[in-house]
Amino acid sequence: VTDAVETEWVSTAGPYVSDFEKKLAEYVHTPAAVSTQNGTSALHISLLLCGVTREDAVIVPTLTFIAAVNPTKYVGAEPVFMDCDDSLCMDPVKLQKFCETECDFTDGKLIDRQTGRHIKAMVVVHVFGNMADMEAIMPIAAKYNIKVIEDDTEALGTYYTTGQYKGKFAGTIGDLGCYSFNGNKIITTGGGGMIVSNNQELLDHAKHLTTQAKADQANFIHDEIGFNYRMTNLQAALGLAQLEQLEGFIKTKEANYFRYKDAIDKIDGLHVQDFRDGIRSNYWFYSVVFEKDETGRDRLIEELKENHIQSRPIWELISDQIPYEGSRTYELERAPWYWHRVVNVPCSTNLDASGVDRVINVIKNFK
Ligand SMILES: *Cc1c(COP(=O)(O)O)cnc(C)c1O
Repeated sequence: VTDAVETEWVSTAGPYVSDFEKKLAEYVHTPAAVSTQNGTSALHISLLLCGVTREDAVIVPTLTFIAAVNPTKYVGAEPVFMDCDDSLCMDPVKLQKFCETECDFTDGKLIDRQTGRHIKAMVVVHVFGNMADMEAIMPIAAKYNIKVIEDDTEALGTYYTTGQYKGKFAGTIGDLGCYSFNGNKIITTGGGGMIVSNNQELLDHAKHLTTQAKADQANFIHDEIGFNYRMTNLQAALGLAQLEQLEGFIKTKEANYFRYKDAIDKIDGLHVQDFRDGIRSNYWFYSVVFEKDETGRDRLIEELKENHIQSRPIWELISDQIPYEGSRTYELERAPWYWHRVVNVPCSTNLDASGVDRVINVIKNFK
């Protein structure tokens, strides 16, 4: 970062941008990567790369951060809100059932009978560092010719340890994967994002679109509507340094996760949500679940606050929010169940064992 400042390459030109792209691609074992301004812009570009337009629909989760869904509207398309399973990620059983019973598949196109829209893509979010059930989702996507965009903004570092995708990182299994380096993510560049793919042609197009679609830079010739979605050299320098710390951050988060889990799972009616078997999670976020009591969530948040500990409820369902009123939904059951019952407790990499114990003590004494 100091070098970027001292050499005065602080903006979108400079060597660290391509260095960071290369290092990130190496880390997740993809041939290349394209940096962006943030995770949201990475998702926007990915939808454009999948050819999603205003006549189309995109299958999205309802239990997630809204930035996973808004880009569908940026390209003029409509969302179809899908339920989650107990991983908090997209439910492949409902996904299959929706495609089979609600849609027609003709000429390689999946058409939603209710809206007449072509379902061209889906955004699969790896929630809180978990891995969505890609082994089940990918065959459904292949069968119905749906492009898969992985929203991996919360799961950098998560990978399969067994099964057909053994060694594969979240974000590298679908057509495109999107990362975020916002301040709340496992590593940060202040603000920033990255697109990965195994398809070099898609990545070349991504670079073109994120850099104003210059056909001839010297003469200011542009051949498409492009975007200024570039990362800066300063941000990339920070990203390179952060990437060196990523595995250490994951170790800290893992230790804190199991410290919480060991204590809280012993309390009647509470547990800490598991990560999927057969993966190495990045343990980004911890979810305390009230198994029976719907009022516990808000009461615990209050109690923690009184003890000067910040916590938060899980996201409000996107399909219930004002901009998405009247949108297409499909059999939402698990998502509303979890929405009432999850509290996210402190999970920073700065948190040590005594910090975790302070939170645990409040939860233990909570009635
Ligand atoms: C953080 C996040 C994003 C957006 O990333 P930004 O870099 O903040 O634009 C998108 N989807 C999910 C699920 C996120 O958690």
